[in-house]
Amino acid sequence: MTPSRRQTRGRTTVLPRQVVAGAVPVALAALFAAAGPAAAGTIGASGAGDPYFPLAGNGGYDVRHYDLTLGYDPGSRHLDGQAVLRARATQRLTRFDLDLMGLEVTGVTVDHVKASFRRDGQELVVTPRQALRPGQDFRVAVGYQGTPNPVTDPDGSLDGWIPTDDGAFVAGEPQGAMTWFPVNGHPRDKASYDITITVPQGRTAVSNGVLVGQRTAHGHTTFHWRQSEPMAAYLATATVGTFEVEQFTTRDGIKVYNAVDPREASAAAPVLRQLPSVLDWASGLFGPYPFRAAGAVVDTAPNVGYALETQTRPVYDRAPGLSTLVHESAHQWFGDSVTLTRWQDIWLNEGFATYAEWLYSEQHGGETAQQAFDAQYARPATDRLWAFPPADPGSGAHLFDTPVYARGAMALHQLRKAVGDTTFRRILRTWAAEHRNGHGTTAGFIQLSERLSGQDLDALFHTWLATAGKPSAP
Ligand SMILES: [Zn+2]
Repeated sequence: MTPSRRQTRGRTTVLPRQVVAGAVPVALAALFAAAGPAAAGTIGASGAGDPYFPLAGNGGYDVRHYDLTLGYDPGSRHLDGQAVLRARATQRLTRFDLDLMGLEVTGVTVDHVKASFRRDGQELVVTPRQALRPGQDFRVAVGYQGTPNPVTDPDGSLDGWIPTDDGAFVAGEPQGAMTWFPVNGHPRDKASYDITITVPQGRTAVSNGVLVGQRTAHGHTTFHWRQSEPMAAYLATATVGTFEVEQFTTRDGIKVYNAVDPREASAAAPVLRQLPSVLDWASGLFGPYPFRAAGAVVDTAPNVGYALETQTRPVYDRAPGLSTLVHESAHQWFGDSVTLTRWQDIWLNEGFATYAEWLYSEQHGGETAQQAFDAQYARPATDRLWAFPPADPGSGAHLFDTPVYARGAMALHQLRKAVGDTTFRRILRTWAAEHRNGHGTTAGFIQLSERLSGQDLDALFHTWLATAGKPSAP
């Protein structure tokens, strides 16, 4: 994600956490220990165990595939949905939850048998006729409809299905997926997707992955998208609008689909033209591009305030600058392919994507990463940058706050200086390769860095990731 105004994402003022000089930092091991969902009898937990978003995701099953069939009318803002989830029970389940906010559920079946359900806040509580056995594969179908509304995040910004004047801007980080489909809404549970969206003829519906079909009949056009590689739910999109579409295949065989709001077309064109070369550059540095599709959706969405790295095809609320394009492209490796396991580790996304901007600048005749580091380091100790350590934002309200981005990138720069350029590049590539289409943790990244460098890097990471306040001169 990139805030369009290049500062914190939220529009409400967040008070910086008190910075206590010389505060004793929490032990690294405790700070980076991942919590798991608690197994509770035969009832699936209502959350995935993430302290920042306790109700996000659910326990007791793993989703393998989502098949979403949607119809959206931008005029009335009415959404019709049918979601079919293929999942596997990880415990005996007499009952389980999906996340769904708002909308009316018209029916639920489990393995084609009608199931009973009730709503409880953002939880859709499903009781199948027959209990599910541990390891059992099952199919849940949910019919739903209504007017989707975005969710307001703890930082005050909007997330999810955000209506625009000609459709909807759909971006779900961290919790907005549940505003438009029933979901196991935590990044820990990645799945493949088929997303089919029908909109009035003349509008375009853009989602993730490859466009496998498009047909127009009776005044409506249906777009069928397929995301074959695993994807975290927050990276799904179904953005609808009036778009100019461009499609081509890169030399590496990546299918590119760009959709641009005509109002942004002239500003976006010179930047989008760079996309193939940016992906080439990033592949050279981070290893092969993780997906078979790429592209961009450039919308006119003045009430959004950010761009998001929706998988394969980032969504931009306005024509992006080149550094934003580089940022969202780097996320395809760091965040999308290698996904965080808990929201506290958000610097693994944003610190890496920010450092990619610094590297791109350095390797294209601009400011060096050292200069970017120095400019950040020059900020006074009272600056927002030092409000909290990047690996410990404290709550969901600070996920997209300055320290996560800039100080996260500074931590990587310190690592690079300690291990040297060659080893640093090996660490980034190995990180992307070993966790490709999977998950990573901060503790895992530290271990990898120590393994490949042969150095004890605890003190470095402790200082730059986990200690409150401005570190003394590096
Ligand atoms: Zn980002």
